[in-house]
Amino acid sequence: MKISVFGTGYVGLVTGACLADVGHDVVCMDVDEAKIEGLKQGKLPIYEPGLDAIVERNTKEGRLHFTTSPEEAVAHGSVQFIAVGTPPDEDGSADLQYVLAVAESIARHMDDYKVIVNKSTVPVGTADKVRDKVRSVLAERNADIPFAVVSNPEFLKEGDAVNDFMKPDRIIIGTDDAEAEKLMRRLYAPFNRNHERTIFMDIRSAELTKYAANAMLATKISFMNELANLAERLGADIEQVRQGIGSDPRIGYHFIYPGCGYGGSCFPKDVKALARTAREVGYVPELLDAVEAVNETQKQRLFHKIANHFGGVDNLRGRTIALWGLAFKPNTDDMREAPSRTLMEALWQAGARVQAYDPVAMDECRRIYGERDDLVLCEDKYSALNNADVLAICTEWRTFRAPDFEEMKQRLKTPVIFDGRNIYDPEQLREDGWKYYAIGRGETA
Ligand code: NAD
Repeated sequence: MKISVFGTGYVGLVTGACLADVGHDVVCMDVDEAKIEGLKQGKLPIYEPGLDAIVERNTKEGRLHFTTSPEEAVAHGSVQFIAVGTPPDEDGSADLQYVLAVAESIARHMDDYKVIVNKSTVPVGTADKVRDKVRSVLAERNADIPFAVVSNPEFLKEGDAVNDFMKPDRIIIGTDDAEAEKLMRRLYAPFNRNHERTIFMDIRSAELTKYAANAMLATKISFMNELANLAERLGADIEQVRQGIGSDPRIGYHFIYPGCGYGGSCFPKDVKALARTAREVGYVPELLDAVEAVNETQKQRLFHKIANHFGGVDNLRGRTIALWGLAFKPNTDDMREAPSRTLMEALWQAGARVQAYDPVAMDECRRIYGERDDLVLCEDKYSALNNADVLAICTEWRTFRAPDFEEMKQRLKTPVIFDGRNIYDPEQLREDGWKYYAIGRGETA
């Protein structure tokens, strides 16, 4: 099938590349000329394990093309995916300007039946807005061309996106158009060979399903973080509590890790956007507000622990803090709303310096913060420790899990770790002479 994808970010590029890999003929369009130029030369704008090989293979075999021309993209696909960003507006609602710009562009250039598929995460009712936009542009053009709007939210996880796309837990498709349903079945058939993963539903339910999933996951994290803060005050160990409750199959072990808060491009913005949608329809989203508030507080936890350790914020001036992990989670270079940013910015504000290391997010960090005297990006995890007062950990990259603690001690000024991801054994570290502050593990600094 001929497919067009608008947006070549984490979602658009993975979608385009994976659809090409099962044999579809795909054109990916982006307004960012540098991104498209790079992609044409085989350079990926993002780090995503396994994606480079898929892009290379399908480009070579002629099933994956990149363009900045909306005309070309609209002419190509019978199915047109919208996979552009929906960042939060000032009031927390999702900013739909990019989605509607693509809808307009499709309507301007289409001359036969198109299925317009919304893959971006968008508030309930957006399909109606897309439909209205397309209708009004077609009316301007005096063109009577049939089309359908479908909601097909994406559930991939950065860091494991290719796997998630190729073997999805579910494919959600919201549609009220029989022809569109047929096309979507054909398009996703290669992903349903083992068993049927597609769930068809009405458009509004599909739009809400995406927010419901992210809000549920964010709720689990904030719940565990609240319990972790309580465990600290009660002298309990949240990691033991986690295992204790995870063993109940109604709760399960997945996604109940306490830590220094959730970040990324999705949870923070989607929880805010859903809360905003609730208010718009006259409902006070008490739980969602709390999930968000707990997370905001949690992202400050490491900073407060560090400040308390040194006897107050004023004593941070002139200190050097080593930081392991910049990405909002392992296996990605994405630093959007990352807890590391909250920590670094608070440390800078207090007059401290940061020596940081991340296996893949260093370029992204440089892009965000530029050159500054109070940030040194280090070659490897050990050199980040040289002459630093203490170490803080914000991302649970595998390379941080079993480091050479003796080497670390020699490089740090004091053997102190602030672990925002609970990756070490507190008892072992204390035995080895470390001061170890984790999340919810009895140390209340
Ligand atoms: P992104 O910021 O990585 O990429 C968006 C891309 O869209 C950019 O390359 C931008 O240049 C391009 N773009 C903007 N306007 C355009 C236009 N008019 N025409 C063509 N391209 C245009 O965003 P992302 O992380 O891929 O997220 C996209 C959507 O998918 C969002 O709604 C997000 O909430 C949702 N989503 C993201 C993830 C994730 O893990 N990143 C997972 C599921 C859903």
